[in-house]
Amino acid sequence: MSSAASDARIVAKTPLVELDGDEMTRIIWKMVKDQLIEPFVDIKLERYDLFLPVRDETNDAVTREAAEAIKRLGVGVKCATITPDAARVKEYSLKKAWKSPNGTIRAILDGTVFRKPIRVKNVPPFIRNWEKPITIGRHAYGDIYRDVEMLIPGAGTAELVFRPAGGGETQTLTINEFTGGGVVMGMYNLDASIRSFARACLTYALDEKIDIWFGAKDTISKIYHARFRDIFAEEVEARKADLDKAGITYQYLLIDDAVARAIRHEGGFLWACMNYDGDVMSDAVATGFGSLGLMTSVLVSPDGYYEYEAAHGTVQRHYYLHQKGEKTSTNSTATIFAWTGALAKRGELDGTPDLVDFAHKIEESVVETIESGTLTKDLAGIAEPRVEKPATTEGFISAIAERLTAKVSGQSVSG
Ligand code: NAP
Ligand code: MG
Repeated sequence: MSSAASDARIVAKTPLVELDGDEMTRIIWKMVKDQLIEPFVDIKLERYDLFLPVRDETNDAVTREAAEAIKRLGVGVKCATITPDAARVKEYSLKKAWKSPNGTIRAILDGTVFRKPIRVKNVPPFIRNWEKPITIGRHAYGDIYRDVEMLIPGAGTAELVFRPAGGGETQTLTINEFTGGGVVMGMYNLDASIRSFARACLTYALDEKIDIWFGAKDTISKIYHARFRDIFAEEVEARKADLDKAGITYQYLLIDDAVARAIRHEGGFLWACMNYDGDVMSDAVATGFGSLGLMTSVLVSPDGYYEYEAAHGTVQRHYYLHQKGEKTSTNSTATIFAWTGALAKRGELDGTPDLVDFAHKIEESVVETIESGTLTKDLAGIAEPRVEKPATTEGFISAIAERLTAKVSGQSVSG
């Protein structure tokens, strides 16, 4: 911590919820906090450690408490976390394969996840006509993420049954008459959640002044997907005047048509996606724009709570190298932008423009560092010009810190 900076730290009014995580992103998390945040901002962090052993120890209560804290304080910033599978249960000797923390948090906060790529001049997108960012609005509730599944051992009948709570007629549909083994799945969504998804997308698009696309497969799923289409259309109709005034258009497309058009398009729109489509398309769009390390993510709840994170995972492969004492070159950009997104939102909600300005200064420092040719391995090969000697994980962050320190003290950094 430089003493000059610490004397003049920006004071934040309201605490921020901090959700720490796992593996390489946990390593990055601490460096970012120590070098880019705490020397410059006097902010109380209400910390929840979602480190997998802590989740195991607390029977995952820590994850639920973190989500409740975001409800209470309004804004959270989250590190990537492991979603344990069988291999992780063994690796960490877990009591069980705890659910995805993001799934748990989304179930508590509801809301929609918006993922937007960070653009830097020297990393051109793979899709050459993508001139503007494509933001993915992922409905973050239900469908396969809250499904029930059954292994069918052999011949028999699988049915879908609904029994109305207040009595009345039971509805039954045959899913399949199995003649041999197979699988079956039941999933659901809620009108209220679909509606708040549509509303969150409209709010986001109006804020950002970008068009909205919504893609689903209502030709095949004539009730389930059609329900999404219809509720979306109702919400669009309700805000028609606002959309017209902002010059924003809405279009419904079949999901496969949306994919084909998105690739040919110049970008600059919000692509509203159902939960699974959003999971897949956000990785496709992130990679298309350059790297997962350049994709930001924010969960916007209908009640006005915000949780910021990087779109990528814990970068396990790099962590294993790091553990062996090898040098890594992990891109911390999206993790840093999770912090800046959260700080800027905190400042906006608290009416403290200094904090918003400072968040933007960090972002500028990151972009300028990359554009000056100090960047990590994921970008080195796709940057123009190519970078022969990528920065290490530590080197990249300290170059940003140096630039930020100069910016805050009103000096400029060359090169
Ligand atoms: P990942 O952590 O996103 O990494 C996949 C690969 O993408 C990496 O091996 C690396 O490629 C590249 N990559 C991703 N982020 C990068 C960065 N910041 N800088 C440089 N390269 C980057 O996905 P995963 O390995 O499939 O998942 C690891 C763990 O993360 C899993 O346990 C999963 O459950 C969890 N996960 C968490 C979240 C979340 O918390 N939001 C999201 C997704 C996954 P190279 O190896 O080629 O360098
Ligand atoms: Mg994913």
